[in-house]
Amino acid sequence: MDALKEHTVEFAGLKDGLHDLHFTLDDAFFAAAADEELHGGSCAVAVKLDKNPNLLVADLHLVGSVRLDCDHCNAPLDHPVDGRLRQVYHLNGRQRFDGDDDVIGLDPDDHAIQLTHPMYECLRLALPARRVHPPGGCDPAVDAILDHQRGTPAGNDPRWSALNALKDKR
Ligand SMILES: [Zn+2]
Repeated sequence: MDALKEHTVEFAGLKDGLHDLHFTLDDAFFAAAADEELHGGSCAVAVKLDKNPNLLVADLHLVGSVRLDCDHCNAPLDHPVDGRLRQVYHLNGRQRFDGDDDVIGLDPDDHAIQLTHPMYECLRLALPARRVHPPGGCDPAVDAILDHQRGTPAGNDPRWSALNALKDKR
């Protein structure tokens, strides 16, 4: 996904110490993400940015709601999300940290970081493995079909068909 301009943080002018930043993930973010599992949503991201002479540490806390497909009835499901992610940046050069996924090395003349990708990663990690409506919240039409399928006579079960085929041969 392309980084969004509003997630650019100019750190060069910041004093050492903690800085509180706030972002909102809305339609523009979900459109840019173009993630087929995420149909939209609204999230607030609080970022604590700790600037040191050598390191920038961004602690993200994302809270909100995302629109997913229900695993059971496939109807839209607005699911709460609450996730955290830490992204560390080293300010003194790229080379030393090549191959380390957890630390991003910045060139000495870099003056800004881009938080779109850490936010997206934070959101992905916050998604539940199983996504279903609360009890009684599924599409009743789909529930009725699934209940009907569960009640299907055993004759349609392939194991029974195999057994019956054996019986027929006798
Ligand atoms: Zn459902």
